[in-house]
Amino acid sequence: KLVKDILSRPVVVGSLNTSITQASRVLIENNINHLPIVDENGKLSGIITSWDIAKAMAQDKHSISEIMTTYIVSATPDETIDMAARKMSRNNISGLPVVDSNNKVLGVVSAEDISKLIGRNG
Ligand code: SAM
Repeated sequence: KLVKDILSRPVVVGSLNTSITQASRVLIENNINHLPIVDENGKLSGIITSWDIAKAMAQDKHSISEIMTTYIVSATPDETIDMAARKMSRNNISGLPVVDSNNKVLGVVSAEDISKLIGRNG
């Protein structure tokens, strides 16, 4: 199985102009935990999780760019789910933005998606 077989679409993304409050609403309303932040060309520039929102509260930060992670661990559609799972476990993260060769965001693959897949097969 490949990442493209399980990635969640349509992808929900935020921009650098998104406020922290808006980002927190998007996470809750879509029942997701990873919000890729894209630039004006749809290219990946950061990622926000509920953990980062908590950090904003704890450290009194007010903009997405202050709290997003910019050193992003990502996946490509044609890599194996096994490989994606290893990346998550090595980096202590629970989701990977899936990008094409131009760094455009196609979706997100999460540890939850992978455990559902294994639950179905097992
Ligand atoms: N283990 C928890 C989890 O999986 O969400 C929390 C720890 S994890 C180190 C939290 C940090 O990882 C957040 O600052 C978030 O921005 C970052 N993060 C989440 N997914 C990421 C990814 N694919 N690439 C880089 N950083 C990521």
